[in-house]
Amino acid sequence: MSKLAPDDVLTVLSDITLPDGSTLTKSPVFTGLVVRDDHVAFAIDASLHDAYQNNPGLLAPVRAAADAALKRDKRVGRATVVLTGGPSSNPIPAPAAKPNPDPKPKQIIAVGSGKGGVGKSTVAVNLAVGLARLGKSVGLLDADVYGPSVQHLLGLTGDPRADGDKITPMDAFGIKAMTMGLLVDQSTPMIWRGPMVGSAILQLLNDVDWGPLDVLVVDMPPGTGDAQLTLAQRTPLAGAVIVSTPQDLALIDARKAIAMFEKVQVPILGLVENMSVFICPKCGHESHIFSHGGAEDAAKSLGISFLGGLPLDIDVRMASDDGKPIAANSGAPQAAAFLNLASAVLDNLAADTALPPPRLVMD
Ligand code: ADP
Repeated sequence: MSKLAPDDVLTVLSDITLPDGSTLTKSPVFTGLVVRDDHVAFAIDASLHDAYQNNPGLLAPVRAAADAALKRDKRVGRATVVLTGGPSSNPIPAPAAKPNPDPKPKQIIAVGSGKGGVGKSTVAVNLAVGLARLGKSVGLLDADVYGPSVQHLLGLTGDPRADGDKITPMDAFGIKAMTMGLLVDQSTPMIWRGPMVGSAILQLLNDVDWGPLDVLVVDMPPGTGDAQLTLAQRTPLAGAVIVSTPQDLALIDARKAIAMFEKVQVPILGLVENMSVFICPKCGHESHIFSHGGAEDAAKSLGISFLGGLPLDIDVRMASDDGKPIAANSGAPQAAAFLNLASAVLDNLAADTALPPPRLVMD
């Protein structure tokens, strides 16, 4: 079968028109087309057309028609068509977020950080593996659209399979995993607007056959901008874990991340101090390279739980680079810190379920 090219996609979609009679693929709302092997992804962004920016729902049938046309084409293995638009205060109904009769994760938790590079993805992956080692059925959804790294951290290769309308998540180290990195071409920059991130993630939540998980861990995009806020708002989160390094500058950003989740009433499960202490592999001397104890003090002053410190350790970094998370290695002493973290998160989740259930903001 011939390889699918962007021009083929334009041909497949050539008959699809907008309510004003113009052709979808020639309209400014048609954006971000990515073709990767047999996967096709693009967005219909209502905010880019005066006629639709205040009423993006008008484009929902167009999205459905485009999705159906792609699915009819035998060359297309998977289609991700995201409808987005309008200011984030006026999010459109997520078109593919139809009520899903399939079993869903019982609890979804976000791992967030105020900025990149603090080890958020490392913590998300090892937390997920740690939860699985504690006997939970666990999924990991890499929602870090700006730098999806779960593929690399779990050593995932190949493409996820599709079973009918559903994507089968990949299995690794006792967890089920799905990452935006498998769906988008990372060498093609794509502008992710806030509502677009929320819609894409909701589609992954719904279109991936997660099965009856105890916990789904979502690795959030770093930062506290519009995209992160919309994602936090539109995902039915049971709670959020915030990752920070100990120094004051990082903690300022962590505070912003905490405030962002609180703004959308997502309970904070706690703050983790990553790269808390460096233990010299040769002499065992402890150095506090990024200061120490800052996260614990910050958690205290904010009245949230401190989930513990994780060492800055070369084995953690090497295990990540090898695609074998350290928490999966029962012989590694560093795994204990991640198991402790997983256990503290479970305790706080249990405490939070005593509260009213999380809001379900799905249209
Ligand atoms: P983020 O998701 O916040 O951008 P990453 O998880 O990608 O951060 O981590 C950034 C880098 O730091 C990676 O190379 C990772 O292996 C390394 N790293 C993260 N946490 C630790 C740790 N506790 N010890 C050693 N290296 C770490």
